[in-house]
Amino acid sequence: MSMNFQRKIPIPQEVKKEFPLNEEMIQIKAQRDEQIRQVFEGTSDKFILIIGPCSADHRDPVLEYVSRLRTIQEKVSDKIILIPRIYTNKPRTTGQGYKGMLHQPNPDAKPDMYNGIVAIRELHLTALRDYGFSCADEMLYPENHRYLSDLLAYVAIGARSVENQQHRLTASGLDVPAGMKNPTGGDLNVMLNAITAAQGGHTFLYRGWEVHSDGNPLAHAILRGYIDYTGKSCSNYHYEDLLQLNELYAKSGLVNPSVIVDTNHNNSGKKYLEQIRIAKDVVHSRNQNKDIKALVKGLMIESYLEDGAQCIGEGVFGKSITDPCLGWDKTEQLIFDIAEKL
Ligand code: PEP
Ligand code: MN
Repeated sequence: MSMNFQRKIPIPQEVKKEFPLNEEMIQIKAQRDEQIRQVFEGTSDKFILIIGPCSADHRDPVLEYVSRLRTIQEKVSDKIILIPRIYTNKPRTTGQGYKGMLHQPNPDAKPDMYNGIVAIRELHLTALRDYGFSCADEMLYPENHRYLSDLLAYVAIGARSVENQQHRLTASGLDVPAGMKNPTGGDLNVMLNAITAAQGGHTFLYRGWEVHSDGNPLAHAILRGYIDYTGKSCSNYHYEDLLQLNELYAKSGLVNPSVIVDTNHNNSGKKYLEQIRIAKDVVHSRNQNKDIKALVKGLMIESYLEDGAQCIGEGVFGKSITDPCLGWDKTEQLIFDIAEKL
């Protein structure tokens, strides 16, 4: 057999029972869900920053990072809602390389899927219990979402997944904002079709069940730049791009028109330091035009303790092993600069 069934994995209900939330955590999660919902519904003008490493590679540096965000959150809470990026499963363009903590709870060791599930749940649990943050993750594998569904504040559907029906249908059954990224080729209609699918209700198969979803009115766009047919990296965060998306939204009949701008990936061409300029540019565009201000709900920033990226095995604490990230000092300054300009 070319697929060897190694072991049966406990279902999400069982894992949730073994690693549960306490009352206080349930309350914080609900409060933050409400605050974040109001931003996407346009009844709060707070600005969202989904911020953190490209991949949550090791528990300790990620929690150190989250603890530093907690200190900043208190200082900017009148203007900004911070949602730490704890990205535990990574899409790989060619399938090769580190696939995230879900696959490899220890990036230097072999894949171990059950311990991966436990590790990602414990990491998200600790961020909520010790630092009061419900966080963001990518829904790379729709069937795994429910291992974390009681913990997440925000779910992103990646550029390589956004055209997939099961991702769209699963997003339609989430109770938190689902950000649909533009695909790697940049077609905005693919992204808008994904939002349309996720905002509608559906009957479908999920984890061996026939399920019905109500539709997710908080499904929205993420602009992450794109690669053209010659392989060139192109951005889509500029004033004109935002106006164009606003027009497409107006024609679409979608509810809660919203976008989060991803400042890294093909918007920066992975020149991670450019994220500072791009973030400020988007905030400037918001300040120039009230339609853009209403549309752009926040930014997604790749940031960690150290600037840049390293190879697996180099072992620098808090330095990315996937996309290059903005280091801590620059991140802290950027958050304060954004808060001042809002
Ligand atoms: C990411 O957010 O790290 C990521 C892989 O994004 P994208 O799906 O836009 O490539
Ligand atoms: Mn990344």
